[in-house]
Amino acid sequence: PTLRPAPTPEERAEVDRALRPQALGDFIGQAEARANLRVFIESARRRNEAMDHVLFHGPPGLGKTTLAQIMARELGVNFRMTSGPVLAKAGDLAAILTNLEANDVLFIDEIHRLNPVVEEVLYPAMEDFELDLVIGEGPAARTVRIELQPFTLVGATTRLGLLTTPLRDRFGIPTRLQFYTVDELHEIVSRNAVKLGAPADEDGAREIAKRARGTPRIAGRLLRRVVDFAVVEGDGRITRDIADNALTRLGVDNLGLDGADRRYMGLMAEHYGGGPVGIETLSAALSESRDALEEVIEPYLLQQGLIQRTPRGRMLGQRAWSHLGLTAPAPQKP
Ligand code: ADP
Repeated sequence: PTLRPAPTPEERAEVDRALRPQALGDFIGQAEARANLRVFIESARRRNEAMDHVLFHGPPGLGKTTLAQIMARELGVNFRMTSGPVLAKAGDLAAILTNLEANDVLFIDEIHRLNPVVEEVLYPAMEDFELDLVIGEGPAARTVRIELQPFTLVGATTRLGLLTTPLRDRFGIPTRLQFYTVDELHEIVSRNAVKLGAPADEDGAREIAKRARGTPRIAGRLLRRVVDFAVVEGDGRITRDIADNALTRLGVDNLGLDGADRRYMGLMAEHYGGGPVGIETLSAALSESRDALEEVIEPYLLQQGLIQRTPRGRMLGQRAWSHLGLTAPAPQKP
């Protein structure tokens, strides 16, 4: 193996761009969403109109930003990106909206965190491509109406439930992104391994795919670390053994769970007899924000049947007990 200097941040960003699929045809997985988007994109192109507004929802790292960028490219329009927490004032959003060109895609990440004042500005903009701005203060205040170019708003959220109903209702194309299957992640890992210059054996790529929590972003992160081990401790190829060793040393177990997941399940098992436990209690005991638990940790554990959500709180599933190597307490007789 040759000694390479550490990549600069610019080089890293370039690799990130190279790994991101650029066209709908290169995007693996999310078959249903992709098939629908293809129709809506094609229709908007033929009619030379702005495509209807799209809302992507689902756990982080599943490709919401990537799909929004692909949409803009396939529509042949500009891509503008911002996020809910960044838009502090109505004027911030107005400045972006008035600078859009016809049919552009405006991507707002974390749209559930929009300031209500900013959200009010968004309604007429989405519906009629109009801005109502209040100029001046007190008795002298007046509203001016500004016409906007037609545009497509693409909103992304990890928490659909936190969106207000009026905002949610203004998206013509709500799209839920799903966790990826192992086969889909396998294909993503294999392609990216080649792009990173460290080809992966069939089994090597599959090992990473199996342990990526159904999430391409995690697959990408694990792949980079495994490449490091392959270069330093192997001959640069990713084999099953190299992948397994690397991931185990990184604390990623055979279900793809990491330390945070195991702490969550361990706490429920050891301190709460497997639940039900309220989310606030778990949040306090783990010193993790409730949002982090609900957005990042729980979705995959739920999907895997490791935990269940009940009206009285979270419960540990049978599968989690066996994974932890513990025995579930016998059910209490009433
Ligand atoms: P989100 O916006 O949902 O958090 P991103 O679009 O930022 O997710 O994707 C996270 C990472 O995963 C990016 O590096 C992206 O290149 C990669 N990725 C996402 N979806 C896919 C896919 N279907 N195929 C290949 N890579 C993907």
